[in-house]
Amino acid sequence: MTSDSISQALAAADRLCLERGERMTPVRRHVLELVLQSNSPVKAYDLLESLKPGPGSAKPPTVYRALDFLMSLGLVHKIEALNAFVGCTHSHACGGAELYICTDCGHVQEVHGSLEPGHKPKGFKVERSVVEHFGVCGNCHQ
Ligand SMILES: [Zn+2]
Ligand SMILES: [Zn+2]
Repeated sequence: MTSDSISQALAAADRLCLERGERMTPVRRHVLELVLQSNSPVKAYDLLESLKPGPGSAKPPTVYRALDFLMSLGLVHKIEALNAFVGCTHSHACGGAELYICTDCGHVQEVHGSLEPGHKPKGFKVERSVVEHFGVCGNCHQ
């Protein structure tokens, strides 16, 4: 992502927090920025490394809480199979996201809207769902 689109994404995240009455703290913002800056999925461990040392130095629970917060707003998705995180700039509600993860270059592409909500157990309220597809992206395929 270019630094321009990162600052746009951060501004959009600020607006979203304002709308939801949530607080975008400096740590939360910094964590989001680091996830957006990365071209491949980021592990919490890497985030901790990037956040220290310095005055903004963060302890593990702080980083995990920041990630939970960002996930709850749909700004970040967790790839369970990799235990890693990707930024999302699609400003969709937490709902469903489908991630296509290239096992060659690590690039992640996201689509949504194709998930069928009709087949869930009666009365089940979905809070977040991420479908992970692993394969080879168009670039690596050629
Ligand atoms: Zn998304
Ligand atoms: Zn690839």
